[in-house]
Amino acid sequence: MENQLNLFSLDDGQETRDHGQQTTDSKQARPDKGPAETNSILNPSVSILYNSLEEAKSAAMSCKKCKLCEGRTNVVFSDGIENAKIMIIGEGPGENEDLQGLPFVGRAGKLLDKIFESVGLNRKEHLYICNIVKCRPPNNRAPEEDEANACSEYLKAQIKYVNPKIIILAGAVAVKGILKKKDVKITKIRGEWIELEDLLLAGRKIMPIFHPSYLLRHEWNKAPDSPKAMMWKDIQEIKRVYDSLA
Ligand code: SF4
Repeated sequence: MENQLNLFSLDDGQETRDHGQQTTDSKQARPDKGPAETNSILNPSVSILYNSLEEAKSAAMSCKKCKLCEGRTNVVFSDGIENAKIMIIGEGPGENEDLQGLPFVGRAGKLLDKIFESVGLNRKEHLYICNIVKCRPPNNRAPEEDEANACSEYLKAQIKYVNPKIIILAGAVAVKGILKKKDVKITKIRGEWIELEDLLLAGRKIMPIFHPSYLLRHEWNKAPDSPKAMMWKDIQEIKRVYDSLA
């Protein structure tokens, strides 16, 4: 386990933004047993405004549908491949992402890459990565509900046209953004496959995981029930299901 946990470590020890809950949870991954949910921001309207992923991206690049347009340097639409079987959804761009125009490229993003690379998956060949909102919230705050709703048309298009079999929700904010639940504790639901009945999400396997910035803050903790150890279990389960896909 020690070597496995080290796969997730970075070595500069800097503090990062809080993307998750502060407590730990020893609950094991429970595949295919998650609660049925119907209250996504993607529901009830499943009509897609755009005829292609490229059309959605083009619209997002000049979008002013919410106040986050005012402070952005770049619109951060996505990274990865457009026919990926796995889509990772985070909450929104941070400083590095805003500057580079790509999601998950700071310290947390590097850790996310290491987690998936530990099971042979990477953004150049296997993953599509995006966020609930495409523009950076000021002072790295979480996206607000009106912003998530305004941006949901782009996320809908991404899910429809990428058509992933597996959707990974990175952190509590992404889970809240998709499920529209205010009382989500990522420590309670991470590692479980969630089944959604929304037309756009039905049939896809959806798993919440810890946000990598949360794992960075708990890097010191090597206990078997630490967030890092739980992340290791979760990525193994994700890979197991990925390998089972036709
Ligand atoms: S966050 Fe989304 S809805 Fe808001 S301005 Fe950016 S692209 Fe448009």
